[in-house]
Amino acid sequence: MRLTPQNVRTRLTLWYVLLLAVILLAYAGITMGLVFLKFRNDLDRQLAQDYEIIEDLIAVQPDGSIRIDSEDDPFFQERWLEIWSPDWQVVYESRPFSGQSLPALSNSDKAANGFRFRSLRLDNGARVRVMLGKMNIEGKRLFIRIIRSEDGLWQELAKLAMLMLIALPLALVIAGFGGYIFVKRLLVPVGRMATKARKISSENLQERLPVINADDEFGNLARAFNELLERLQIAFERLKQFTSDAAHELRTPLTAIRSIGEVGLQDQKAPGHYREVIGSILEENQRLTHLVDSLLFLSRADSKAFPIQMESLPLQDFIAEIVEIMLPLAEEKKQTLTIQADGATMAMADRALLRQALLNLLDNAIKYSPEKSEVVIRVAAANAGDAVIEVIDHGPGIAPEHREKIFTRFYRVDKGRSREMGGSGLGLAIAKWAVQAMGGSIRVESEIGKGSSFKILLSANQQ
Ligand code: ADP
Repeated sequence: MRLTPQNVRTRLTLWYVLLLAVILLAYAGITMGLVFLKFRNDLDRQLAQDYEIIEDLIAVQPDGSIRIDSEDDPFFQERWLEIWSPDWQVVYESRPFSGQSLPALSNSDKAANGFRFRSLRLDNGARVRVMLGKMNIEGKRLFIRIIRSEDGLWQELAKLAMLMLIALPLALVIAGFGGYIFVKRLLVPVGRMATKARKISSENLQERLPVINADDEFGNLARAFNELLERLQIAFERLKQFTSDAAHELRTPLTAIRSIGEVGLQDQKAPGHYREVIGSILEENQRLTHLVDSLLFLSRADSKAFPIQMESLPLQDFIAEIVEIMLPLAEEKKQTLTIQADGATMAMADRALLRQALLNLLDNAIKYSPEKSEVVIRVAAANAGDAVIEVIDHGPGIAPEHREKIFTRFYRVDKGRSREMGGSGLGLAIAKWAVQAMGGSIRVESEIGKGSSFKILLSANQQ
């Protein structure tokens, strides 16, 4: 069985009451102890006063016997008092408590100097306080024992204990009850937050938790949760957008394949015609494959499933390999690809990611530049030992209002033209992600009618 209650409210209240009980008990114990000491000190002081009075009233007779003035004084009637001679003969005794006797004096009592106080319990259970002292009266040494009842002291203590016994549980009940109500009120925001959170799903991700007091811990929690909702909403919306854009993009080549096929099936045509139809279908299929590859790349990027292996790359050789791959495309348009680099420039990069980014930039440069133009890939060392790779073309350029947006997924300045050229609007988004995943940055400079320059900035040193 679980002893700790599940409910925070009950748990807090129990802890609070338990702590309070410990504090109050300690307080009561200390108070009782101090009161006891105070009463007993009072009793000892009274015994000392008794001693002084008795000292004044005792006189030694010429024959050596003891005489007590005013023996009829009510003082002597009320006091329990014993006086001994030096040879321990009782010379005086007054005993208002009938029938009770004290233990005989021990040797240590007899040998003691000064005053001795002691508490004793009589045979009938009564508690008494005893004071033992030595007197010197007219050269005669006497021993005296004065006894006072401790009943008053214990009665007062019992009253005090009774008072505490009533007050303590009462205080605990009131505090517990008050604490329970207080905690209940304190936890109201948590309840409201939970109720609201239960109602939030993917359909109403724009809703937020109530922030009752922005400055307290619960307000802070609600704000943190709302910020999380905000991030989730953005991610969810982006995902929705991505899915719908992807579906849209996939539909275009699929529709094209279908209509090409349908047209091809319509009439009996020459075999050459079918070859053309199959060729067109394969072309669309290639586009589709490219699109699916791009989508797969981005979805792996989003789920951070890319193993990134950074290494120091000699850029000139690396770029020469990529240019080799792109050369046939450029040759188709009679373009020249020029590398401007010195062999010494190095950059920290992941081979596969940098390759993908550069292929995309070069593909665009070739795609959007006119025939017989020149595409330059320039490598240079930048400030603080970093490296810059520039892909410069002499294409149409990009208007300022599009410059930032072209790195967004599926964004195309001229949709029709881009698709015509086999573009899906994902090339730059992939390039940007790849460069950023390597800790670098990418930006574009462009002039309408003159051309564009895409710059990748990478660190040359290990981070
Ligand atoms: P796409 O597959 O359409 O080329 P990208 O993401 O690679 O997609 O590029 C996004 C858009 O940016 C392109 O549609 C094009 O309008 C523009 N763009 C990219 N590179 C160039 C360039 N070198 N010159 C002119 N426009 C460019």
